Amino acid sequence: MTITKLLHFVAIGSTAALLATCGGETSATSVTAPTSSTTTTTTTTTTLPAVYGKFGNGVQVSMDGQTVVIRTTDVPDHTSPYFGAGNSGYEAPQTGMVVNPNRIASQTIVFRVPVSPSAAAASDTPLGPMGVATNGVVLFNQYAAGRMPLTNEIFSFDRFNGHPSPSNQYHYHVEPLWLTAKGKAAFIGVLLDGFPVYGTQDENGSAPGNLDGCNGHVGATSDFPQGIYHYHIVSAPPYIAGCFHGAAGTVAG
Ligand SMILES: [Zn+2]
Ligand SMILES: [Zn+2]
Repeated sequence: MTITKLLHFVAIGSTAALLATCGGETSATSVTAPTSSTTTTTTTTTTLPAVYGKFGNGVQVSMDGQTVVIRTTDVPDHTSPYFGAGNSGYEAPQTGMVVNPNRIASQTIVFRVPVSPSAAAASDTPLGPMGVATNGVVLFNQYAAGRMPLTNEIFSFDRFNGHPSPSNQYHYHVEPLWLTAKGKAAFIGVLLDGFPVYGTQDENGSAPGNLDGCNGHVGATSDFPQGIYHYHIVSAPPYIAGCFHGAAGTVAG
């Protein structure tokens, strides 16, 4: 390895460390590609899209080549009966809620999604995390265990529509009311294929039309005024997304 290449790798490492420290509190504008003080590298770099600056609640976002790496503890930034009595995040269950036996516990979940998502053959979403919301809570699809309908599980949702799995992984299957309280057209998060998820309305306040089988369409959003494929949350199954529009990245933890 030449000295110049070594220096280049050190520079990238320092950038990654900085991002890991600042996490979701940094705005995306501070995330810049390593500049070339060397002349021998051919590494291509892409700036983190500004929309990732909307992740908070301790979510750490960084770049690894053409991949966005998102790390979350999956602990919600709102109250829930699932924190358990005595926890500062606890609140009593709402009327009619059937509290399940699981409780919220901090997780170590790492998503790796394409920084420049592109269309691919539509594919099934998995059980378990299929995306992550801006507050770090993971997004699940429209199925319970065994790909059964959510019919009975719905009663166990707290008032923000979340509940924890048997592994104490808190998640939303349906509209995260804590996040759409900011606006029904709010940016909710991203799915594993890197495409963004929005609330139940488009930016102009209308219900989104011409949604495809994955719950998405192409159009302008506040974050992508030039237009982008994006998912919308709807009130009936599949709620968040019926399939992936692009090639899915990975999730671990
Ligand atoms: Zn569930
Ligand atoms: Zn739309």
